[in-house]
Amino acid sequence: MKSRRDFLQKISATALAVPFLSSAKAAGSSFYEEPYEGPVLKVAILGLGSYGTRVAEAMRDCKAAKLTGVISGTPSKIADWQKKYGIPAANCYNYENFDKIKDNKDIDAVYIITPNALHKDQAIRVARAGKHVICEKPMALNAKEGQEMVDACKKANVKLLVGYRMHFEANTLEIIRMRNAGELGKVMFFQGLSGFRIGDPGQWRLSKELAGGGALMDIGIYSVNGARYMVGEEPVWVTAQEVKTDPVKFKEGVDETITFQLGFPSGVIASCLSTYSMNYLDRFFLNGTQGFAELQPATGYGPIKGRTHKGELNLPHKTHQTVQMDEMSAIILQNKKPVVPVDGEEGVKDLRIMDAIYEAVRTGKKVELG
Ligand code: NDP
Repeated sequence: MKSRRDFLQKISATALAVPFLSSAKAAGSSFYEEPYEGPVLKVAILGLGSYGTRVAEAMRDCKAAKLTGVISGTPSKIADWQKKYGIPAANCYNYENFDKIKDNKDIDAVYIITPNALHKDQAIRVARAGKHVICEKPMALNAKEGQEMVDACKKANVKLLVGYRMHFEANTLEIIRMRNAGELGKVMFFQGLSGFRIGDPGQWRLSKELAGGGALMDIGIYSVNGARYMVGEEPVWVTAQEVKTDPVKFKEGVDETITFQLGFPSGVIASCLSTYSMNYLDRFFLNGTQGFAELQPATGYGPIKGRTHKGELNLPHKTHQTVQMDEMSAIILQNKKPVVPVDGEEGVKDLRIMDAIYEAVRTGKKVELG
């Protein structure tokens, strides 16, 4: 059956510049409750690896975003994706020629899903081609690089968003609402546990050159970012300690396990663990004077499970990447303001903290964040 969605997805964003019916409708899951009348973001994915594939599959269910192009260094993947997602040859590029997307009206935004070290240069090239940038986490290897990306996108007058899918997750947003409404009392403490046992020692995630570090860059970033959105403040100091049990697998500059602590202006403290050598670590816990909130799992692909002093949170699971891409379409094409920002500045804030964590590990000293 040819659905209304198929029809809408084929029409260009500009031709469909109908505003959302109300701001309530534009919020979160409302995308999936009523027929969608708004514009559609035309997206090319750059880097057709494991996460890129997950995003492409999830985008099949998007209402406000559509996969229209690919950028890849592997011709056989391009051919597969063309067949699978009906992508015309005119919308397929490689790493040498993708600056030509400049002239392609079927691409509004490029979603960069490559190893971390490649993000900065690829984002700057996309921006210079006049297209919006969506970039996977960590957006860059350090805050200085992240800021260069922010500046390049500002200069090119395009938006820069970071793939923080949890910022749109219903249980997470409910806890943020409860905290803001004072239902937890005064927040006192956050705990973030983020880790898994990494396999294949030859993968890019264990290369300092391509990953920019180790577990902190890949999985610990969830506790860094989560501490900020769960507490609702920006940290002012950092302390950190590193433990390495396998220096062969985790070479110089590739962290295996780091524990870190963050201090916030109101006096809240956070205690976090980032590791590549333990499983079953995906838990956020927020403690206030009048209640608590827990997410476990907190950042996996879901379903996310939430619990507070008032009981279980049972908000329905929706594929994170589907919601993320629909919401990002609204942010890019309609200037929607998300509850928790996903812009480049947000990514730089995390990288500043991660830079400070590495500095604290190196020096053994408390690092103040000015
Ligand atoms: P993969 O290794 O599975 O895929 C990366 C792809 O990048 C490759 O398949 C390849 O695609 C392209 N590529 C270009 N140059 C290189 C290179 N030198 N080495 C390896 N690959 C290269 O990685 P993931 O998809 O797991 O991760 C990619 C990014 O996504 C990372 O930044 C990661 O942190 C992030 N990520 C985010 C998640 C989230 O939940 N938000 C989850 C998982 C990952 P091609 O052959 O098409 O050129």
